[in-house]
Amino acid sequence: MSNVFYRSSKPYPLAVRGAGVYLYDDSGRRYLDGASGALVANVGHGRVEVGERMAAQAARLPFVHGSQFSSDVLEEYAARLARFCGLPDSRFWAVSGGSEATESAIKLARQYHTERGEAGRFKVITRAPSYHGASLGSLAASGMGARRGLYMPLMREEAWPKLPKPDPQRSGAEDAEALRALIEREGPETVAAFMAEPVVGASEAALAPAPGYYERVREICDESGVLFIADEVMSGMGRCGAPLALGLWSGVRPDITVLGKGLAAGYAPLAGLLASPEVYSTVMEGSGAFLHGFTYAGHPVSVAAGLAVLDIVEGEGLVQAARERGTQLLEGLQELQSQFPHLLTVRGTGLMLGAVLGDPETGAAFPVPGLAARIGAEAMKLGLITYPGSGAEAGGRGDHLLLGPPLS
Ligand code: PLP
Repeated sequence: MSNVFYRSSKPYPLAVRGAGVYLYDDSGRRYLDGASGALVANVGHGRVEVGERMAAQAARLPFVHGSQFSSDVLEEYAARLARFCGLPDSRFWAVSGGSEATESAIKLARQYHTERGEAGRFKVITRAPSYHGASLGSLAASGMGARRGLYMPLMREEAWPKLPKPDPQRSGAEDAEALRALIEREGPETVAAFMAEPVVGASEAALAPAPGYYERVREICDESGVLFIADEVMSGMGRCGAPLALGLWSGVRPDITVLGKGLAAGYAPLAGLLASPEVYSTVMEGSGAFLHGFTYAGHPVSVAAGLAVLDIVEGEGLVQAARERGTQLLEGLQELQSQFPHLLTVRGTGLMLGAVLGDPETGAAFPVPGLAARIGAEAMKLGLITYPGSGAEAGGRGDHLLLGPPLS
């Protein structure tokens, strides 16, 4: 008997080693990691230099508590990360995972408005479908009916208004008008933030809005005093062929950028947010402290992993690689699509790509529950790891597979 509390009753292979784009199980079977786990392992597996940096950090300074110290490694990382993201004047708040990071962003937005004397602003608008995390706050923000349903009695539904997903067939600016209408309906004086994944990940396999969408979102947020939070947990850190996916829509700067996954590329738990100078100074010049914090926030060993990963991403040109390999993989998927009409849509940017399945006659999802999960399981038997998702679970159209191999 195993003492591990597994995620489900299905049998799991036992992973023992990773090298480059491959994982190996205890029987010696090799898997091509076509999804970097869940779009995490951006620099590939088994990079010795990352492990060495972490070991050196653990030997020199393994831990300090964020209420008592900053650390040299955190200072260096925050500066480098802010520059990498093209937001050199932003402030980095470090946590351990994406859910902690989106929840931190929500709390920061709420406190920001309170500091400015607008305590009536508490609602966080997100899109449906969307995925922002599994903790109760980040799950409440997520537009994923099946995952939230069980916990609804613990959530105040009116705090989390939902906007429809972007429709890339419409003009971006026109599509974004739905946000203005929703803010007006809710009452701008009650809305704290709009949070969105610039390129939608787990719930809608690499769905991006048309050009102009985020420019208009930025204007609408400014006009109504609502903060714009970009959840780049999946799409950031070069994954979409730009340091941040929002950079694909020129000139749009969010108030808070949320990062995770690719930050330490799976070598250690590391996530966080980049706050604009205005958000940071409002809190620091107001009450003087962000009313929030986790014990392992800014863990020096995780941050050391982040630095080593950033060295690889910059030193090996992996943002550019994501662009080039992404184009190649998308072309390959398009070729497949011409042979398999049930591949309704293939899309994406950089190495964040989605394949949406369905009935080519009607465009509807197949009447087979969990189809993508079954395809994912078959692919895994053949040695290919994908990241299957269900539009039905998210309240969307069909099942899909998200593809995102290491950028390396
Ligand atoms: N936000 C986005 C866009 C994500 O894709 C995810 C995870 O898939 C999260 C937040 C939650 O991150 P984590 O699973 O690290 O808590």
